[in-house]
Amino acid sequence: MRNRSLALVDIARTAMFLVAMCVAGMAAANPYYDPSKPHHTPDGFRNHYAGTVTKGFSELLRWQWESWREGLPKPARTPTPQVAPDLPRIQGYVRSAPDSTAGQSDSPPAITWLGHASLLVQAAGLNVLTDPIFSERASPVQLFGPKRVVAPGVALESLPPVDVVIISHNHYDHLDRASIVGLHQKAMAEGGRTLFLVPLGLKPWFEAQGVDSVVELDWWQQHSVRGVDFVLTPVQHWSARGVADRSTTLWGGWAVLGRDLHWYFGGDTGYSKDFADTRLRLASRQTEALGGGFDVALLPIGAYEPRWFMREQHVNPDEAVQMHLDLGAKQSIGMHWGTFALTDEPLDQAPQDLVLARRTLKVPEDRFSVMAVGETRALPPRSTAKN
Ligand code: ZN
Ligand code: ZN
Repeated sequence: MRNRSLALVDIARTAMFLVAMCVAGMAAANPYYDPSKPHHTPDGFRNHYAGTVTKGFSELLRWQWESWREGLPKPARTPTPQVAPDLPRIQGYVRSAPDSTAGQSDSPPAITWLGHASLLVQAAGLNVLTDPIFSERASPVQLFGPKRVVAPGVALESLPPVDVVIISHNHYDHLDRASIVGLHQKAMAEGGRTLFLVPLGLKPWFEAQGVDSVVELDWWQQHSVRGVDFVLTPVQHWSARGVADRSTTLWGGWAVLGRDLHWYFGGDTGYSKDFADTRLRLASRQTEALGGGFDVALLPIGAYEPRWFMREQHVNPDEAVQMHLDLGAKQSIGMHWGTFALTDEPLDQAPQDLVLARRTLKVPEDRFSVMAVGETRALPPRSTAKN
């Protein structure tokens, strides 16, 4: 009898859960919905060229089963390169004054790879972090999920004051709660303020973490910080942090236009015409007289096998090199590899495939390279006809 009443309680609980899920599903109406924008849908967002890029549950099971059967990913033969960070140099970057709109610095632009899609870009007088993750695992819980194989290139506590964090989308390897809260608290403790720039729909998540310095943007919208323009650009991907929120918040790449550096951050993306569109959209701001195209593009090169599952959502190195050409970038740096084992290729495969991709597409090595975690690379300041 006791067992039966327990079973009834279970059934009741399951029913309540299902009703709650349905309510959650119904509540997912897109509050930003603008029918004139093709990437808006009544309940979320979609891509310009591929609509939905996610696979169904049965395909997910097939992938997981096949990986397990084949013992994938195979271990890397070479460890992800890592160097000790040059902290005096990183911390010594000269930022512009809080009331400045000049968008410049006495220090030359520099980029430090912190691992995965986390980079510190010091340019135009701002310290900018991309998709920061300092946690051990890219997962909703720290007990399981993909574990990092290399420590962050710079510890969160050792970072210089961060002016802006840009977020590409809400997947756990790009939007890490502990890192966001840690960065916010660090800024507060230093008497400063970090501004979080995010795609549409992510502001409530930040506010729920107690972070209120957030600006959310739609594709092609721009926000300026001390003379530097941040433009959210379309890429081909999706979003989700749970089971009932698929693509209810937007995703994107970022074009950051400062006086001494125009840079692009690709986030997570499949290959599409979006990159040629981005180049065209910004063409009037990137004429030869104004210094030309992007000085550097930070492009994802990892997490791409098996292709039948990943193709629409993650570029492989071949497509990343094509992205580099489509964007018209002067140089590109490969990221989103070597840190978390998310997919079937070994963690050291992406830079090896990049070598072949460069050869095929006749792109010189110094035009598309990878960095060591912790490495800082200086970039020549952008020169315009005006200066
Ligand atoms: Zn993603
Ligand atoms: Zn990712």
